Order: sequence, then C-alpha cells, then structure tokens
Amino acid sequence: MAKEVSAGGVVYRRTRDNRIEIMIIEDRYLKTSLPKGKQEKGETMEETALREIWEETGIEGKVVQPLETIYYNYYNPKVGAVRKEVHYFLVEATAGTLVPQMEEIHTVAWMSPEAAWEKQKRNGYQNNISVLVKAYELLGIDNRKEKTS
Ligand code: ATP
Repeated sequence: MAKEVSAGGVVYRRTRDNRIEIMIIEDRYLKTSLPKGKQEKGETMEETALREIWEETGIEGKVVQPLETIYYNYYNPKVGAVRKEVHYFLVEATAGTLVPQMEEIHTVAWMSPEAAWEKQKRNGYQNNISVLVKAYELLGIDNRKEKTS
C-alpha cells in the first residue's frame, strides 16, 4: 500500500488580555481540521509541521512539544489505497498574519478553545479529538467545559 507522511500542529496564540486562541481550519474537503502537509526530503517532522503551517496559514510558529501521531487510510484514484500518518505538535504562534492558502485549505481562523472544541465535535475527523485533548491538557484548558454562549 502507498504510504504518506505528513506533519502539522495544534497552533495557539495568546491575546493581549492573555486568553488562549486555537487555530482551526476547514480543509479542502470542507471538514474541520488542523493545518498539516506532506514531508519533503531532508526535513524533520518538526520542520515539515512549521513549514506547512506557514504555507497554509501565513503564521510562523515554534514547536513546544510532540502531541500524537494519528493514522488513517484513504483512497486516492491515482495510486489506490493510501496508508497515512500525521505527526502533530503543539505549536506556539510567534509571528505572521492569518492568510489562508486557498489551494490547500478552505478557511482558517483563531477561535476560543470552547468554540474550536465545538467545531471539531460538529464537523471534524474523529482521530483529531485526542490530539486536541492533549493540547488542551498541556495548555491547562478544561475541554469538558461546555460553551455557555
Ligand atoms: P496533506 O498534504 O495536508 O497531508 P491531502 O489533502 O493530500 O493532505 P488528506 O488531508 O489526508 O490529504 O486528505 C485525503 C483524504 O483523507 C480526504 O478524503 C480527507 O477527507 C481524508 N482525511 C483527511 N484528514 C483525515 C483524518 N484526520 N482522518 C481521516 N480521514 C482524513
């Protein structure tokens, strides 16, 4: 089976009044997801994650720590079944302005942790849930808190 390796991140930033915001994208299949993309030759997984985040969203970041590697299969008409792995990191935004790269993703936005969680639950991939949970734990965010407004 063909294999694909990608990397990406749960990207966060702190607002001036010290609230945390999480970057959430809609991918080109219109699903809620996290920025990621394929590894290029000679890159470490961390380098891939940061390059793809920058290319897809215009945001520069630094890796805080690894979160999880997820696996799934999908069917690509050109090559058949593909076994995919995606290495996710917790990434702190350091610079840049949000600009979605329209060829690769549909939208990108900063959201409150509660709103990001709701959107992931409503329209995301199942295997991204534990990635967000790990990020929220590390950031000290209580993801069990339901949105109140
Ligand atoms: P990239 O270059 O960002 O790795 P891509 O667009 O080439 O991505 P995927 O994002 O893996 O490839 O999408 C290929 C197929 O897999 C699509 O049908 C997509 O909906 C599906 N897919 C994407 N992310 C996941 C996921 N986390 N779990 C299951 N299926 C997914």
